[in-house]
Amino acid sequence: MTSEQPADRPVPVRLREALAKVPAYSPGRPPAPVEGMTAYKISSNENPFPPLPSVVRAVADAAATMNRYPDMGVVALTQALAEHLGVPAGHLATGTGSVAVLAQLVQITCEPGDEVVYAWRSFEAYPIVVALSGATSVQVPLTADARHDLDAMAEAVTDRTRLVLVCTPNNPTGPAVTGDELRAFVAKVPRDVVVVIDEAYLEFTTEESVPDALAFYREHPNVVVLRTFSKAYGLAGLRVGYAVAQEEVATALRKAATPFGVTDLAQQAAIASLAARDELMVRVEQLVAERERVHAALVEQGWDVPAAQGNFVWLPLGEDAVPFAQACQARALTVRPFAGEGVRCSIGETEANDRLLGIAGEWLHSRE
Ligand SMILES: *Cc1c(COP(=O)(O)O)cnc(C)c1O
Repeated sequence: MTSEQPADRPVPVRLREALAKVPAYSPGRPPAPVEGMTAYKISSNENPFPPLPSVVRAVADAAATMNRYPDMGVVALTQALAEHLGVPAGHLATGTGSVAVLAQLVQITCEPGDEVVYAWRSFEAYPIVVALSGATSVQVPLTADARHDLDAMAEAVTDRTRLVLVCTPNNPTGPAVTGDELRAFVAKVPRDVVVVIDEAYLEFTTEESVPDALAFYREHPNVVVLRTFSKAYGLAGLRVGYAVAQEEVATALRKAATPFGVTDLAQQAAIASLAARDELMVRVEQLVAERERVHAALVEQGWDVPAAQGNFVWLPLGEDAVPFAQACQARALTVRPFAGEGVRCSIGETEANDRLLGIAGEWLHSRE
């Protein structure tokens, strides 16, 4: 920066008033080094496994043509997804991560002042994309056991509601909604209100009662299923997610997409990942086994941990959330605190999980 451009000069441009209501996303911080310890980041629900060689190869090959724009229609990936899911290609819309597809969903449904109903605490991107659009968030508190209160959510729907978001399993608390709960809920929501079922962690679910939301999309034209390659498929850094919706909604979503948003590297990586699905799902099984181990150990230590159906566990620490995260940071372990509420810890490398269990155990002892 030169001396003629002071950083604090007032800017005489008009920005939207809605920005004042947009909360800042708190990104998972990079792990802080501690002398003599391997640092681990278990704060962003990332997949700890490095990409498969076949996926790295696909990306390296795609890199050779990065002077070109990607296929704007995302044709090959859409076709592969359509076959994998058993849905028409016209029912798919891709985006730069499912967060971007969610922003498109708000854009295609909400005028300023319209309402979006979702549970809270839930995914922190929800209030951001809603506020940015000028729509109004209607946050319905979770139940005491950190689950969606779908009855209360159905009651919160008004004639201003355009969108309802169901996050299952819920980030950051962990429980998933059951098929019965979802069936009763969808039956109560007016047919002209879009119900988004955000299944970012579907592949990690193990409870029998957890439905595959595609069954709901098939039965109810207002249901949209949101999925991502960021978590189970391990492509968080490449940004690719998608929605499955009826043709009219999917077409609107494609209109609202950033042109050429999903890069060729991301498209090729996603195609290669679908082809390597079996190999990737073995890793998911290992992460699920680790999650079960960590969850059981925490319960054994005396923690009141909610059901964990994603690749993370929730410690309801309340006012101790930030101090606990600091204690983890001092041991080169980055977790994600939600001040005054709790701490979300992703299932990471075995050593990271063991370190978390060590800190969690000591924490309870020090308070006895
Ligand atoms: C991680 C996550 C996503 C996926 O985000 P991407 O933009 O696809 O990386 C979506 N929804 C929830 C609830 C998540 O936790």
